[in-house]
Amino acid sequence: MSPAAKGGAPTSPATWYSETRLDRAERPALKGAHDTDTVIIGGGLAGLTTALELARHGTRVTVIEAQSLGFGASGRNGGIVSASYACGASAIRARAGAAGAEQLHALSVEGVTRLRQTIAEFAIKGAEPTPGLLHLRRFDQGADLRAEAEALATQGLPVTYLDAEAIADRLETRRYHHGIEDRQAFHIHPLNYVLGLARAAESLGVRIYENTPAVATDFGISQRIRTPKGMVTARRIVLATGGYTGALIPRLQRAILPIATYMMATEAAPDLLAEVIRTPMAVLDDRRASDYYRVSQGRLLWGGRITTRAAPDAAVARDLHRAMVEVYPQLAGLRVDHSWSGLMGYARHRMPQLGRLAPDLWHITAFGGHGLNTTAIAGKVLAEAMLGQSDRIKAFAPFGLDWAGGRLGLIAAQLTYWGLQAQDKWRERRSQV
Ligand SMILES: Cc1cc2nc3c(=O)[nH]c(=O)nc-3n(C[C@H](O)[C@H](O)[C@H](O)COP(=O)(O)OP(=O)(O)OC[C@H]3O[C@@H](n4cnc5c(N)ncnc54)[C@H](O)[C@@H]3O)c2cc1C
Repeated sequence: MSPAAKGGAPTSPATWYSETRLDRAERPALKGAHDTDTVIIGGGLAGLTTALELARHGTRVTVIEAQSLGFGASGRNGGIVSASYACGASAIRARAGAAGAEQLHALSVEGVTRLRQTIAEFAIKGAEPTPGLLHLRRFDQGADLRAEAEALATQGLPVTYLDAEAIADRLETRRYHHGIEDRQAFHIHPLNYVLGLARAAESLGVRIYENTPAVATDFGISQRIRTPKGMVTARRIVLATGGYTGALIPRLQRAILPIATYMMATEAAPDLLAEVIRTPMAVLDDRRASDYYRVSQGRLLWGGRITTRAAPDAAVARDLHRAMVEVYPQLAGLRVDHSWSGLMGYARHRMPQLGRLAPDLWHITAFGGHGLNTTAIAGKVLAEAMLGQSDRIKAFAPFGLDWAGGRLGLIAAQLTYWGLQAQDKWRERRSQV
């Protein structure tokens, strides 16, 4: 378990998503000796996407998941699918250069399309995309944002600049100054999507085992993964353990910071919510420590906050409720029915880590808080590399397994977040003057 997990990270998958998941099937734990081409460790979006993409080309794949499918960030997230990465564009350019950054951005857009196509291709139930994301500013930067929206629209992207009046048509709040409506983005029920991916992979022959942690590895002519009740022998291993990466491969663990983040679901109040949030689109504010939310099945799902040690559920619920009431005082009486946390895996450079630790040992980790579109493309790109079909994986080469800083890295991450929160508050106050 990761350091943050020891500090009280989620051990129960009980979230609003797990209560409303459509597919209730459970997979057995692996027992005895088992042989395959590729064993994937981790049954989240990264592992299952890679499994599906390999299986499309006839590879024999086995996925082992320590808990249940989607137990990690993949089954607990905001469900918002949009282009880009957890790392900002200018930092990507600084490390990868202009051409590299452009290629990476194009991949992130391909990830949005790929995810939508996968849902349609396998008719994944309960994960039908709801279009649209409003990126809204809680502080004023008038001309810049209008120009940005216009530049994006001239590149053919389905985006529109929203002034305060246009926002007021959609949302009953005065918190936002202006923003951009992004109709390429969409939102989904993430756990239904994870479970649909698993079904799709199984339909192509992938074998999946739950409650099967990899506890040890032996490397030789073939690779061996030991689990509590069995063993898998494979030609290749893929590590897809996200923010839950443990000590199995110490070099990978050292490259990842597990960061906790939070969500809540209110009680069902469809009429009240329809008066206050008059759009089916998701909403994301532009603060560096941002909040995001959307209405789903008559409830408001609200996410935000990060910590390096997971906070207790009751404190999370209070904090997120307070954040909601700051934007919508008229929702103060809404009860919080569910609150939960999840661990995101962050690299120091905040970009996904995709590559090879040894000839037959691959990794696909560190998607941070932007993992839906990015795992959809990274799983494909990794499979292409493993099968020798493309070298698109090279686009991620500038973002390797840098040491994440251990305990000091976690402290630095928490201090940075608090610093950003303070700056956000200051900028917001200044733009209200
Ligand atoms: C609350 C929250 C909100 C978010 N909102 C969004 C959003 O709206 N949009 C977006 O794009 N991204 C969002 N993200 C980020 C996104 O969810 C993640 O980036 C993505 O799910 C990472 O997928 P993964 O497969 O790498 O990791 P995970 O889903 O965490 O999967 C890793 C899996 O590996 C398993 N595992 C670990 N060790 C072992 C082992 N030894 N043996 C077997 N299995 C093991 C774990 O049990 C876990 O299931 C959010 C994340 C959180 C937590």
